[in-house]
Amino acid sequence: MNTMIKCLPKEVQGKLRSGVALPSLQQCVEELILNSIDAEATCVGVRMDMEAFKVQVIDNGAGINSEDMDSLGKRYCTSKCSSIEDLDSLRWYGFRGEALASIVSLSTLVEISSRNRSTVKTHVKIFKDGKGMDVFEGETARPSAGTTVIVCNFLHNMPVRRKRVDAVLEGERIRHRVEAISLMHPSVSFTLKNDCTGAMTVQLPKARNTYHRFVQIHSLVKAQKLGEIGYTHGQFEVIGYIGREGHYNNSLQFLTGNDDTQGSNNNEQHCDTALNPEPAPVCSTNPLADEREEASGDWLHHYETSVGKTVYVNKVTGLSRYDEMPAEDTQVHCTSDVTNMAVSVINKMGMEYRCYPFQVDLVLPFLPKSRTERVISSGLDDRDANVESSNSLTTLYSKWKNPVFVRPPMVGVDVTSGQAVGLAVKIHNILFPYRFSKAMIHSMKVIHQVDKKFLACLINTRDEEPAAMTETEGNLLVLVDQHAAHERVRLENLVADSYEEDPDSPGEKRLCSSTILPPLEISVTEEELRLLRSCQGHLRSLGLDVKFSQAAEPQVFVGKVPLCFMEKESNEVRRGRPSVIKPVVEEYLREQIELLRSTGRVRGTLPLTVLKVLASLACHGAIKFNDSLSRDECHSLVASLSSCQLPFQCAHGRPSIAPLVDTLHLDKDEQELQRPNLLKLRRIYKAWQLYGNR
Ligand code: ADP
Ligand code: MG
Repeated sequence: MNTMIKCLPKEVQGKLRSGVALPSLQQCVEELILNSIDAEATCVGVRMDMEAFKVQVIDNGAGINSEDMDSLGKRYCTSKCSSIEDLDSLRWYGFRGEALASIVSLSTLVEISSRNRSTVKTHVKIFKDGKGMDVFEGETARPSAGTTVIVCNFLHNMPVRRKRVDAVLEGERIRHRVEAISLMHPSVSFTLKNDCTGAMTVQLPKARNTYHRFVQIHSLVKAQKLGEIGYTHGQFEVIGYIGREGHYNNSLQFLTGNDDTQGSNNNEQHCDTALNPEPAPVCSTNPLADEREEASGDWLHHYETSVGKTVYVNKVTGLSRYDEMPAEDTQVHCTSDVTNMAVSVINKMGMEYRCYPFQVDLVLPFLPKSRTERVISSGLDDRDANVESSNSLTTLYSKWKNPVFVRPPMVGVDVTSGQAVGLAVKIHNILFPYRFSKAMIHSMKVIHQVDKKFLACLINTRDEEPAAMTETEGNLLVLVDQHAAHERVRLENLVADSYEEDPDSPGEKRLCSSTILPPLEISVTEEELRLLRSCQGHLRSLGLDVKFSQAAEPQVFVGKVPLCFMEKESNEVRRGRPSVIKPVVEEYLREQIELLRSTGRVRGTLPLTVLKVLASLACHGAIKFNDSLSRDECHSLVASLSSCQLPFQCAHGRPSIAPLVDTLHLDKDEQELQRPNLLKLRRIYKAWQLYGNR
């Protein structure tokens, strides 16, 4: 490393993206650790005090010389980059000289003390309320070279953000970051101490390599399930480890990217560590030569003897499943280009929409392009693509035990909390878009049952006072799906019945629960165990009673589950089907853990797992197609539907009402007698033939 800290020239400053934002303790700790690694430390100690918003990072790196201490903490002052050319061959994590400056601006006190390798003196620089004091010589000299950074009262000027920080969750994030960095630097020892609890949460002595570091963190049992991969394709190389056992999300996936075309001497940065059975997207379009695997479209399948089932693996996304994809599903969900992959999301209002999670500019360069595009853009042909190395993903596929993933999480809407008040749904038919409001549903009048499937009804869509609506004759002829409508009515009743007053917190509701004997034994990771332990009260309000086991393998015992889970279970058992209670509770716990990780502690929304179980209960007891309904039954169904919070869709989100024809428009059309403009249509058709189908 250049020893001099210099201010980056203006032209380089301009090339850098806008300033590093350090809005979390986790990022602050990460930046400080990376500085220590840049200083070639072999030992990094971190202490965190989440109550005082204080962190301390101590290293035995090269240290900072006394002249450089002055420019320390000034924005764009760095020893790691000095010209535009340097930006092309970066050897360090840092190069912008922004991290310390940002940390200083967000803390009431920052103290940096350092002893450079070439001196016996220790120099100290203090920043008070963002202002740097003069450098002085420390009274107590460090015994050897290295740097200590102490950050106090971090985020003091961002009170709202600070209030939202959850000590346990943030502590977990910091631990996760320390562990992630440590996997890339197995030869560095790391410790993390929680000063509030006194607990040493990370203690990792120097390890031989990434595999041994993984053993230190996640135990040998887990490490034995890893497979080493190494694959080279043209100028690209992927190395690392991949788990042969499924994990339901990517929290154990660590990827680092590095360009191989540049000679860098910071070897440890090259280490790619993927600890998830989801193959790195770069490899997923490899032609798989193994005869046991047959490709059909975008899915590969092969018979997995260890589980006695056929496993289907998507070539593009790496997602896998046990059951065959229906043909049309395959076309919808799996394109050759994941940037166009869509998932269905149910928004807060309960409406389903498609979203394209991979269509983010920033992510694009790392995603696989379709083969043709890739060949063109990289200027390579795929001559070597058929050559399989023994460490290839193909070989790994055949060793996988259980690479099964759940679908992306959906967000449920809580119909009990009044989120749905004032909801209107836009419905298109070919001629006119309609905005159905709930007031309109109140005006709905049944004409007759049709085909033992639908109720033909008239709705008043005219702009009138709600009271008047019920008086005047309806103008819009709609079909109400009798199954969807009844399912919706049943779902809302079931949701309401699932809650009871919470004796622990008056005025609040909690999910009704039921005891399950013997308690369910559920395996979790250490991290999940800690997260669950931190929110036991919350779990009770969700109808769960969770006990924690100290056994060698982390697991929890669930003694109470939401009542509706037991109802679903007894339905399944009564029908002679296999028990579902354990997978449902597992899914429920995971949903809660994911919510904790992503949004922190939130209370009061109907959990999606509960919603799904209730939806299936609602479906099973609902009126079916081919049930004939009397006039009275029709009337009471429509009346119940109109009092629903979300009358427009069934329990699973499909529409319950479809518009057919508006009698008002019928009249108008007859008078004006519009005819299609054939000339224009022909022109459009010609244009499409010429340009449209390229
Ligand atoms: P960057 O890492 O991008 O250079 P920072 O603000 O993180 O920017 O750090 C500024 C400079 O302070 C670094 O370039 C380095 O010279 C010095 N520095 C920071 N932390 C350490 C450390 N732990 N050991 C030695 N030098 C350090
Ligand atoms: Mg830095």
